[in-house]
Amino acid sequence: MQHFPIFLAVAGRRIVLSGGGDAALAKLRLLLKTEAHLTVFAADPAPEIRAWAEAGRLKLVERRLEPGDTLCAALFYAADEDAAEDTRTAAIAHADGALVNIVDNLEDSQFITPAIVDRDPVTIAIGTEGAAPVLARAIKKDLEERLPPVLGTLARIGKAFRAKVEALPFGAKRRAFWSDYYFNAGPRAIDAGGADALEGALDRLLADHLDTAPKPGRVEFVGAGPGDPELLTLKARRALHEADVVIHDRLVTPEILELARREATLIDAGKEGFGAAMAQGDINALIVEHGRAGAHVVRLQSGDPTVFGRLDEEIEAVEAAGLSWSIVPGITAASAAVAGIGQSLTKRQRNSSVRFLTGHDMKGFADHDWHALAAPGEVAAIYMGKKSARFIQGRLLMHGADPDTPVTVIENASRPDQRVIATTLSELEPTLSRAALTGPALTLFGLAPRDAVHTAVMRDVHRGPTRVSPLQEAFA
Ligand code: SAH
Repeated sequence: MQHFPIFLAVAGRRIVLSGGGDAALAKLRLLLKTEAHLTVFAADPAPEIRAWAEAGRLKLVERRLEPGDTLCAALFYAADEDAAEDTRTAAIAHADGALVNIVDNLEDSQFITPAIVDRDPVTIAIGTEGAAPVLARAIKKDLEERLPPVLGTLARIGKAFRAKVEALPFGAKRRAFWSDYYFNAGPRAIDAGGADALEGALDRLLADHLDTAPKPGRVEFVGAGPGDPELLTLKARRALHEADVVIHDRLVTPEILELARREATLIDAGKEGFGAAMAQGDINALIVEHGRAGAHVVRLQSGDPTVFGRLDEEIEAVEAAGLSWSIVPGITAASAAVAGIGQSLTKRQRNSSVRFLTGHDMKGFADHDWHALAAPGEVAAIYMGKKSARFIQGRLLMHGADPDTPVTVIENASRPDQRVIATTLSELEPTLSRAALTGPALTLFGLAPRDAVHTAVMRDVHRGPTRVSPLQEAFA
C-alpha cells in the first residue's frame, strides 16, 4: 500500500484551493460536503464558484495565490490545470505546512482524493493508487446502488440512540437489535413517516427487544468431516444452519462454511492440528464469550472433533461458564483416507485393531509404542505426519518393521484435489519429499491402495517375485 487511507478531521479547519476551472469545480463539489472553511484563489473563477461564494459556502479571492495565502491550511489543492502554476502554488502551500494535492499529478502529491460513497456519517473511500480510476468509479457505482440513500439518516439517528441500547446485553442481543433497526424497522419507519418517525420507532423497537426473554447460549462441538460438504452429517448441516457464531479451524473448507447462515458470524480460529496460530486459551475465551452473550455457538472442527483436537479443554471452559453443550461427531480424516484407497481400516486375519497416531504433539515429534507397531499386519492412521515422516520411518525400521511394509499417504482426502501416494516404509521419506505436499495429509501405515495390490499381484504372475513399486502416485 503506497497510500494509507485515513479520515481527516477537517471541521472548522482551513482548506485552500487554487484554480477556477473544471478541476477546481470537481474538487470543490466534494469539499463542500465537509465542515471545513474553504478558500479559493482564482483570477477567473467559474460562475458556480462565484455563486457558492455569494451563498457564503466558501471564501473566494479573485487573484492568483501568493505566499502567505495558505497559512494554517490543513489541505491544499493545486487545481489550476497548468503544470507551472501548479508547481508554484504547491511550493507555497508546502512551505506553509499544508498537505498538498496536485490535481492529476499523483507523483508530486502528498495525498490523493479517493472516490467517495457518501452516506454521511457512513463514508466509503475507494482508492486504486491511481492505477484504475475506472475501476474505482465502477465500485463506487455498485456500492451506491446497494446502499440505500436513507442509510445515512439511519446511521445518524441510530448513533444518537447508542447509549440507550446499552440496556441490552452486549453481543448477540445488541447485534440483533441493530440489524432489526437497519434492515427492518428503520427503513420501514422512514417509508411510513420520514426521518421524524425514526426516534419513535427506535424506542418501540428497544422496548420489544428488552421484552423478549434472553435465550441462554449453547455450544455445539461439530465435526465438519474431511472437506467434502456431502460428508457432513445432517446434524452438522442443521447446526450450521442455525448457528449465530461459527468458530472454525483452518482445515474447514470454504464450501462447508458456505452452508452457515448468512447472518452468522464466522471466526477463523486459525489452528492447524496442534500448530496453534490462535492460542487455545483465546479460543476457549471466544467460545465462552459468545455463549454467554446468548449465541448459539458452533465450534466447527475438521473431521471429528473428538480426534486430535482440544475438545476436552474447550468443554471444560464451557462447563465452567455454566453453558450447555453437545457434540456432533464427524467423519475423521482416517475414514475418508481409507475410503479413498478402497481399503478397510480393520480386516480379519490382518489386523483386529487400528491405531490413530499423531506425528507430533505440542512438545515435538510424538513417541509411540514403535515395537508393537512394527509387528506384521499392523495398521495405523497417522495424523499430522508430514514433518515427522522421517522420524516415524526411522523409529519403525529401528524396531524391526519390514522395510517393504506398504505406506499410503492421502492428501486432501475427499476433496476434488485428493492425491494418493503409495509407497513403502523404506521409501517413505524420499517419496514424500518428491511429492511436495501442500494440503492436509493422512498417512496410512500398513495399507496399500487396493489397485496397487492388484498391480503387484499381476506383476508377480508375469515376472516372478517383485516388490511393489515405491512411487505409485497415479491413484488420485
Ligand atoms: N479432527 C480431525 C483431525 C485434526 S488434526 C479429524 O478427525 O480428521 C489435523 C490433521 O488431520 C491433518 O494434519 C491431517 O493429518 C489430517 N487431515 C484433516 N483433514 C484431512 C484431509 N482432508 N485429508 C487428509 N488428512 C486430513
